Amino acid sequence: MSEAASSPQPSAVAAPVSAVRGVGPDRRTQLTRLGLHTIGDLLFHRPRRYEDRRHFRSIGQVQLGEVTATRGHIVALGLKRYAKGQKSVFEFILEDGTARLHCRWWNLPYMQQYFAQGDEVLVYGKVNSLRPRTIDHPETEVVVANEDNSIHLSRIVPIYPLTEGLSQRWLRSLIFRALQQFGPEIAEPWPKLPLPDLPRRRKAVEMLHFPGELTEVDLARRRLALDELIELQLAIQRRRKRLNRNAWGWPCGGDNRLIKPFLARLGFSLTAAQTKVLREIRKDMAGAQPMRRLLQGDVGSGKTVVAACATLMALESGFNVALMAPTEILAEQHFQNFARWFGPLGIEVGLRTGSHRTSNAECRTLNIESKPCDHSALRTPHSATLSIGTHALIEDSFAQENLGLVIIDEQHKFGVAQREKLVRKGRYPHLLVMTATPIPRTLGLTLYGDLDISVIDELPPGRSPIKTFVRGADRLPKVWEFMREKLTEGRQAFVVYPRVEEGGTNELKAVTKELDAVQKALAPFSVGLLHGRLPPEDREQTMAAFRGGTVHVLLATSLVEVGVDVPNATIMLVENAEQFGLAQLHQLRGRIGRGAHESYCILVAAPKSPDAEQRLKVLEETTDGFRVAEEDLKLRGPGDLLGQQQSGMPPLVFADLKEDLALIERARGLAGSIIATEP
Ligand code: ADP
Ligand code: MG
Repeated sequence: MSEAASSPQPSAVAAPVSAVRGVGPDRRTQLTRLGLHTIGDLLFHRPRRYEDRRHFRSIGQVQLGEVTATRGHIVALGLKRYAKGQKSVFEFILEDGTARLHCRWWNLPYMQQYFAQGDEVLVYGKVNSLRPRTIDHPETEVVVANEDNSIHLSRIVPIYPLTEGLSQRWLRSLIFRALQQFGPEIAEPWPKLPLPDLPRRRKAVEMLHFPGELTEVDLARRRLALDELIELQLAIQRRRKRLNRNAWGWPCGGDNRLIKPFLARLGFSLTAAQTKVLREIRKDMAGAQPMRRLLQGDVGSGKTVVAACATLMALESGFNVALMAPTEILAEQHFQNFARWFGPLGIEVGLRTGSHRTSNAECRTLNIESKPCDHSALRTPHSATLSIGTHALIEDSFAQENLGLVIIDEQHKFGVAQREKLVRKGRYPHLLVMTATPIPRTLGLTLYGDLDISVIDELPPGRSPIKTFVRGADRLPKVWEFMREKLTEGRQAFVVYPRVEEGGTNELKAVTKELDAVQKALAPFSVGLLHGRLPPEDREQTMAAFRGGTVHVLLATSLVEVGVDVPNATIMLVENAEQFGLAQLHQLRGRIGRGAHESYCILVAAPKSPDAEQRLKVLEETTDGFRVAEEDLKLRGPGDLLGQQQSGMPPLVFADLKEDLALIERARGLAGSIIATEP
């Protein structure tokens, strides 16, 4: 039961389940196991399906392979043991006057205690044979003659998630009684809201459990989902309103004195989309309230430069900036870029990761692309600095005075808590979070509902589109041949293997084991190895060599998924691609197609996964990150896409983030109208 749904309930509904007749300590323990603590929990316990018991199919009419509800009386039953008593099958035979049905349970001998000759039983399951008619492991419900069967028969009945020791019938009766006793206490949470198309909340709860027609189930679901979503939107919007009232924004609009020379030396001009987004950011950072903005742009759309400009605005205004990235590789790459960009402007850039504490002012550039520091510029240093790092930035030992702007790259790799921890290093600094994972609108409005969203919807010019191919493992020799051709033309390549477990030994085995094979397949080209277990110096050296072009092929785990930017690399080969989510593969694919040369992404699926191969075809069809994300959301749910567990969002019982865009938008509007009337 989510907080969202329970919070508008008055206290009677908050009473423990034992307030209903017939719930003693044992029953209470069982209900607790199901997460049912209060009357409210009972009332909002969502049935997992419904059974229309107004019309049963007679046993004579059951169809092979069909999931069927039917009923009859037990005419025979027994338990057979075999394999020296190690194994068993319990079986009963139902008869309804038209035919007989065998119901069997393997290795669950205790089932026999629940049934007796002559019992009338309702069964539900898949018919797996017609000679004789058989259902294995059906769901069952014994009709109790002297009980009030109007709850359980001749109507549409709810079938609930259960726990051991609880029967459908008992729980259904309990919820029925709870509804009678406490239904009237279910208050209308927002009596003034106009919801002409939906039942009142109390009615919705009744329809949820005992609908008159199956269409009422959907109505009830929609009403309760809307309530959940309104609660969620209220929380989001209230948080935002509080922030706006309590906090003032530091004046970080800047005066262009650093941005101008930065852009002049950059070597390319910003795209229209980058410029538009920067205008939005500048407006926020010069505004009265702290910025809370999500910058979303497909892989390769150029978010880093936007982050650099935002940083310069804050620095121009005399405020410090912190930029957090999810991996050391990415933090190091950012450090190099920013040090190269900002060094000539006399700006100090610091790097802080698990293995590094350094700054460009110390002239200790990493052993990659070491460029001499420009001392002439350092003679007129600006006092404000940029700190770049990984999670190390949120450790207690990192402190930053005068923090005006916090930037989080690849935001979806962090939890809300981590984001907030970095923000709390300052006094309401501006916040810019960046992500390449395109966010379906349903999630944008919920997971990121407290953020304003800017979108870079255009790639820099001169990119040639990436061609994507899905191939079975049998085609690998051809793939190597193709790769060798491209390497000969001077291009570079990534070869990625799935990491099986974070830090697991499998990951190491997969890439290190393959190193030999790949080296042989591609000799004499040089192959570098990159994974999370390597010491940082090795990693840096390999990355540097890959950037510098002396390593031609980078064999890696999905560690290279985020951020890595090497424009000469034009081939991305992913093995066991079925192990990845589509959005993740899209990210990986984003590592190529960054230069002028044609790029190729080859997804090799394991031999035994034709389904997976089909799923991967989406990537063949489109390079549009939004479509990929929508597909991923449908296939895998929001948790996978964005780490919902970390998002700090309450679990939703009735609302569905995959489907309920219209409800979410409606809830957002309604919550806005509620908040507008609050003091
Ligand atoms: P992402 O949005 O995935 O973080 P990056 O910021 O890494 O993308 O940018 C990808 C590449 O595009 C980098 O090499 C960057 O220098 C380059 N780039 C960014 N903006 C432009 C632009 N306006 N014109 C040309 N190249 C650009
Ligand atoms: Mg990036």
